[in-house]
Amino acid sequence: MSEDHQLHRVVIIGGGFGGLFAARELGNSGYDVTLLDKRNFHTFQPLLYQVASGMLTPGDVCVPHRVAMRRYKNVKTVMGAAYDIDPDTRVVTHQYGELPYDTLIVATGVKHDYFGHDDWQDHAPGLKTVEHALRMRRKIFYAFEMAEQESDPVARERWLTFVVVGAGPTGVELAGAIGELANRTMPGDFRRIDPRNARILLVEGADRILPGYPEALSREAEKMLGQLGVTVRTRTLVEDIEDGLVTMKGDQQQQSNVPTETILWAAGVRASAFAETLAKRTRTPREKGGRLRGQPDLSLQGHPEIFVIGDLADITDARGVIVPGLAPAAIQQGEYVAGLLKKRLKARAGKPFVYKDKGSMAVIGRNRAVGDLGWARVAGFWAWLLWIGVHIWSLIGNERRSRVMLQWMWKYFSHRTGDRLITGRPPSTRRLKDQESRKRAA
Ligand SMILES: Cc1cc2nc3c(=O)[nH]c(=O)nc-3n(C[C@H](O)[C@H](O)[C@H](O)COP(=O)(O)OP(=O)(O)OC[C@H]3O[C@@H](n4cnc5c(N)ncnc54)[C@H](O)[C@@H]3O)c2cc1C
Repeated sequence: MSEDHQLHRVVIIGGGFGGLFAARELGNSGYDVTLLDKRNFHTFQPLLYQVASGMLTPGDVCVPHRVAMRRYKNVKTVMGAAYDIDPDTRVVTHQYGELPYDTLIVATGVKHDYFGHDDWQDHAPGLKTVEHALRMRRKIFYAFEMAEQESDPVARERWLTFVVVGAGPTGVELAGAIGELANRTMPGDFRRIDPRNARILLVEGADRILPGYPEALSREAEKMLGQLGVTVRTRTLVEDIEDGLVTMKGDQQQQSNVPTETILWAAGVRASAFAETLAKRTRTPREKGGRLRGQPDLSLQGHPEIFVIGDLADITDARGVIVPGLAPAAIQQGEYVAGLLKKRLKARAGKPFVYKDKGSMAVIGRNRAVGDLGWARVAGFWAWLLWIGVHIWSLIGNERRSRVMLQWMWKYFSHRTGDRLITGRPPSTRRLKDQESRKRAA
């Protein structure tokens, strides 16, 4: 406990799964807690693909930090992007000011990695934030609208081709959602095109989709995707992405060019930018994907007052298990560090972190899923029901839970999806007129 002020100050950077659950666990404790995030809301990332495919709206999957922390009077929320830290004076600098701390918990997560081709992100948006999901939604539904207006069959085919890069759970869920839209939800809604003619390619460098899952589940998932019109290309790497074209190379070195207006990125992640600053300031070496190695109690070596949790941390637990980048892992780490701090208040020592594997699931289309629960493998409709239960349960707030449940039930029975909105500013009428006059004059 520091002597020059009453309460020990805990600053948590990042209000994702790790940070939010650490703050909650420290709620109404004897600590003065500040939750700093560059956004004023928490995003339930596992459901972002549903926003991208128009199944849910941003408000269904996000909750303001202030609302989530309302009950905990010792927790302040501050909106601002952290960009520097001085571990000697123990001060974090963010875009609107400084925050002194006694203990720091860093949970800033990961961002997309385009494997050295950052220029690809303009053509192939990834899915990490609600803005990304809205950008994807715009791209997907815009493509169908353009195909409907296009009279040139080659250009129409380009609009109706969707390429999803990376067949981990996010890529599989995205491809399945587009397949569901094209083949089950939208037929009948267009007059000139048949959305069932959409070509959906799921591209993966490994020899099977869902490479982290047992082989039998990968096969099941591929079969389910096939039924939704998704073509899987494994052992294939993307070589180049440019406007309207993706170039790929298979393991036999065969090259193929796929003309498409819609490329979606679900391939790689890298620790957030703040992890880089923290590593530099604390002289911590960076591990695979730029992650920071945490000690058995999740603190940084040489800095018992700084903890790293969630996706940005590289952790091997007390039993030698490498902790995966999943929401339950981030939650457990957040709760563990909070528990450790509460023990410290009572001058009790804590045990090293042990990860409890709750398994992982991927949903495919409207009513199927695959899941590896550790003790059982599940696939099909019952797996999907389990997936629904887990996700509804995990959403924050009773009102949000009931709303999403009702929406899913309605969409399940009606085969409809509500939010097919192409948002963003439409072009101004004046600019279009000016362009036309310039064309005529030329
Ligand atoms: C599309 C998608 C689907 C997923 N599906 C699943 C799934 O089905 N099951 C599962 O278990 N996991 C899933 N995951 C993974 C899961 O969401 C992550 O493991 C989890 O979010 C990690 O939590 P975190 O707290 O480490 O980081 P995050 O939840 O990413 O939170 C990081 C927070 O830090 C904030 N932040 C970043 N930089 C700064 C800064 N400089 N200053 C202030 N704030 C900052 C961000 O705004 C964000 O709020 C999915 C992830 C994605 C992207």
